[in-house]
Amino acid sequence: MELTPVTDLPEIRPGDDLADLIADRAGDTLADGDVVTVASTVVSKAEGRTADLADYPVSGRAQEIADSLGDLAGEEKDPRFAQAVLEESTELLIEVPFLLTETRFGHICVNAGIDRSNVPGHDLLLLPERPSESAARIREGLTERGYEDVAVIVTDTCGRPFRHGQRGVAIGWDGMPASRDWRGEQDRDGRELGVTVQSVVDELASAANLVTGEGADGVPAAVVNGWEFGDLAGSEELFRSVEDDLIRQALRGWEWG
Ligand code: GDP
Ligand code: MN
Ligand code: MN
Ligand code: MN
Repeated sequence: MELTPVTDLPEIRPGDDLADLIADRAGDTLADGDVVTVASTVVSKAEGRTADLADYPVSGRAQEIADSLGDLAGEEKDPRFAQAVLEESTELLIEVPFLLTETRFGHICVNAGIDRSNVPGHDLLLLPERPSESAARIREGLTERGYEDVAVIVTDTCGRPFRHGQRGVAIGWDGMPASRDWRGEQDRDGRELGVTVQSVVDELASAANLVTGEGADGVPAAVVNGWEFGDLAGSEELFRSVEDDLIRQALRGWEWG
């Protein structure tokens, strides 16, 4: 497998056609059957998902959240940012010392994934509304350009519980299953695997983040050549439902401090 950054992409603006821009620059690197990863930051920019703090009149709840975060940090926190996070979310799982929420498309992350880095001219960049649909549109654009069966993964950089450090995850995908199901396969001793479902979209997203970077590199996309999903069964499931998520159930009864 080879992972190649797509270089020379411009600053992405609302209405830009990412499939075209990527295909033009990927050149011979991109072939039928490859996987293309695209950072959610540029998907959001292309979809006009920028926002400004002034767009968010503050509710009582947002003020309350900003006050408790501010008390803790020893400095004022902007309640308009808390309001933006609330509006992008369906559930608030942790309120202090940071906002952990479920976004409208089922992804759980800090601050509803609202980004304040790499957003020229605006205060905020919201995540794409439905990242898997964004991935499908990019894939369709690549098909129109003559590339057959290219899978697309929309990535974001996220923190994780239990471990320091952030890494890339898939927040949307199209053209491949989310996971590869090893259950029923055998290990080297003939023992049957009972639980392993490998989240290949996340693994590819993390690998892509190694070449795209997080700062000023200007490399929001990568091409994965020569990676094969293989013969195992696929699964579309990535985000756990509440019933299926012990950690989330525990958080519902949890208070900080
Ligand atoms: P996120 O992980 O989706 O939040 O995206 P990041 O903010 O970490 O950016 C990922 C990569 O995309 C970094 O290399 C950025 O410099 C780059 N990047 C962000 N916005 C743009 C853009 O509009 N154009 C280009 N060419 N690169 C960008
Ligand atoms: Mn960012
Ligand atoms: Mn981000
Ligand atoms: Mn990133």
